[in-house]
This record gives sequence, C-alpha cells and structure tokens, in this order.
Amino acid sequence: MFFDVTIIGAGVVGLSIAKFCSEQGYSVVVLEQESRAGEGISSRNSGVIHAGIYYPENSFKTKFCVSGNELLYEYANQKRINHKKIGKYIIASHKNDIEKLHKIYNQGIKNLVEVDLFSNRKMKEIYPDLKIEEAIFSPNTGIIDVPELISALEGDIQHNGGLISFNTNFIAAEKIEHGFKIICNDGSSYEIDTRYLVNASGLYSDMISQKIDVLDEGHFSSVKYAKGHYFKYNGNHPFTTLVYPLANEFSSGLHVGFDLSGQIRFGPDITWVDEIDFSFDESLKSTFVESIKKYWPQIDSAKLHPDYVGIRPKLQSFNETMKDFSIKSFRDHGVDGLINIQGVESPGVTSCLSIGKHVLNLIKS
Ligand SMILES: Cc1cc2nc3c(=O)[nH]c(=O)nc-3n(C[C@H](O)[C@H](O)[C@H](O)COP(=O)(O)OP(=O)(O)OC[C@H]3O[C@@H](n4cnc5c(N)ncnc54)[C@H](O)[C@@H]3O)c2cc1C
Repeated sequence: MFFDVTIIGAGVVGLSIAKFCSEQGYSVVVLEQESRAGEGISSRNSGVIHAGIYYPENSFKTKFCVSGNELLYEYANQKRINHKKIGKYIIASHKNDIEKLHKIYNQGIKNLVEVDLFSNRKMKEIYPDLKIEEAIFSPNTGIIDVPELISALEGDIQHNGGLISFNTNFIAAEKIEHGFKIICNDGSSYEIDTRYLVNASGLYSDMISQKIDVLDEGHFSSVKYAKGHYFKYNGNHPFTTLVYPLANEFSSGLHVGFDLSGQIRFGPDITWVDEIDFSFDESLKSTFVESIKKYWPQIDSAKLHPDYVGIRPKLQSFNETMKDFSIKSFRDHGVDGLINIQGVESPGVTSCLSIGKHVLNLIKS
C-alpha cells in the first residue's frame, strides 16, 4: 500500500491537514487509534473560536489563530456548522490587575486584532451583577460545535478520496529512499509506504516521535500534561458573552464558557498531572466557587456540577513561560518528508485550518 501523505491522528489538526492535502490531489491516509475521530484533545475543550489577543505577535499561536479565526468562521458558514460570534470580555476584577489588562490590550493591538477597552461604568451597565474594574471586549471571539467541525472535515476528506483508518495504531516508521515504511496495527500488523509522514498525535506526539527511527532526540520535546476541569452551572446567570477573568494572586481566572445550547460552564483550571488520565477531581469545587465569587459574588454553589476534563499537551513545565506550537520540517530536523507537530494546545481548534494550510505548503515546498 502506498500513500503520498500519512497522518497520525484524527483530531482537528490531523483532519485539517488531510482535508487540504486531499483537496490538492495527494493520496492521503489518517491513522487513528480510536474508533472515532476527535476522541483526544479535540473533544475535550472549550470550543471557543479565539481572536488571537494574548500571544506574541511573531508566534505561530498568533499567526495561526488570527488567520484561523477568519478561516473557521468562513468554513462554519459554508458547512452550516453550528457556531455563534458571541464576543468575549477579558475582565480585571481588582485594581491591581488593570496594568496586566492593558498589557493584554496592547498585545491585541500589536496582533492587529479588534479589541476595545471598556470602563468600570460601562461594564456596570452591561454586567451589573459582576465585579469588573475594567474590561477588554473582543467582538470576534465566538463558539463552535467541535463535533460538527470534525464531521465536516471527515466528510471533505472522504469526498476527496482520502482514507481515515480507525482502530489503527501507528507502531513505528523507518526511513526508506523517498519516504517512510510505516508499521501499523489494526488487530494485525501491516505496512504502508508513504512519501510524507505527519505526526499530529497531540498528547502522544513525543512517544510517536521516538518511534520514527531517524528522528534525533534533540529534535522533539517531551510533552507535559496540564489537566483542565470544567464545572457546568445549572441555574439562572447573568452571562450573555464569554467572560475571561485574569489569573492573579486572588483568583485562578476561571472562564465562563457556553455550549451552543446556552449551557454555561466554568473552567478550565490547570492541574499538572504525570499521566494521561481523564478522571474528574470533584474536590476542586470549593476552589472554583471561591475563584468565581471574585467576579460573580452571587454564584449559588449548589448549582455547580462536575462536567468534564481535557488535557493540554504542553511543551513547557509548570514553572516555565509559554512555549509556541512546534511544527518542524526538513529544515528544522533534517528528515526529508517528515512534519512533526507538537504542543498544539489552545488555540488549536481555532488554528486548525491555518495549520492544515501551512503543513500543505511545507509538503509542496
Ligand atoms: C482544556 C482545553 C481547552 C481548550 N480550549 C480551546 C478553545 O476553546 N479553543 C481553541 O481554539 N482550542 C482549545 N483547546 C486546544 C484544542 O483543543 C487543541 O489544540 C486541539 O484539539 C488539538 O488537536 P490535535 O488534532 O492536535 O490533537 P487530538 O485531538 O488529541 O488528536 C490526536 C489524535 O491522535 C491519535 N493518536 C495518538 N497516538 C496514536 C497512535 N499511536 N496511532 C494512531 N492514532 C494515534 C489520538 O487518538 C487522537 O485522536 C483546548 C484544549 C484543552 C485541553
């Protein structure tokens, strides 16, 4: 069996890459260990279409988020994927946070993202029940139904003749002339020859990197896991937009998110863990309530219930500063035909189509 492009992982990143490659006439296979697409990080997130405010202007995170935001709204409209541009307030609930808020605002301006500063008086009119000293409004932030996005991508790949092979484990890759020999297992072991190999395996990207015989240890990173818990709120609430408090010494900055039915939830927190484990720590509830009370004093804690957890594939440890998405090709690691992707945490859903286009360009170049 030969494919031009073999992609490990049917999350939003791998599927987006497969969509763009298959559109260009490349024969494509996506190997996915689970029985459905999106069962990894892609189905356990906030579903927010971010605007690209926070990250340094020259980072992949900014570049792919800003262009991905536009591409994703366009794609969602074209495919009738449920989504809503509901907007987001980033709020400072304490005077000590205003300087930090202004820094974020200035970063948004540098990133050429539409942002407005709202005063305490204005925010009292919009959200009289919330404690807000000052806020940034981002009109282009929204929410999307990620399972529908995944289905649309799968549909495109199949329409273009691409293959998504479920229950199929990538075992190892060996470099051959003009490509790779790949060993997979779907109950029995078999081989695929491919010209290009893309590692889009999310939380597993370091383990997969180790199984590519010619990739030196120095050219990939170990993945650290940062769990995020979500609690849903079953009751009346004042929220009509996303609300993102700042993390500081007074609060862990737990966001208010929505799904498309209007159900609100708070989270995610950051709990560093050593293993990929999606169990829910219900004892976090009191920390959540305490943190939310800093900006919404009337929260009724009895209405807050455990919802789900996601895990971020971080390239930095808890005491290090933000690391960028890592998308490495021949000119970085010297392995012809290999695109190795790591650290695609948030805003990875927003960025997926832009990353897909970028990887296609790497393959074409
Ligand atoms: C808590 C949380 C909140 C987030 N919120 C947002 C948000 O609001 N907006 C936003 O833009 N982004 C958000 N993100 C980020 C976003 O969810 C991720 O960046 C994105 O889903 C990553 O997709 P992926 O395709 O890289 O990984 P995944 O979805 O994990 O896909 C990788 C796939 O590889 C498969 N795989 C692994 N090993 C093998 C193997 N050996 N063989 C075959 N298959 C294999 C896995 O089963 C998996 O399906 C959030 C992330 C988290 C954790």
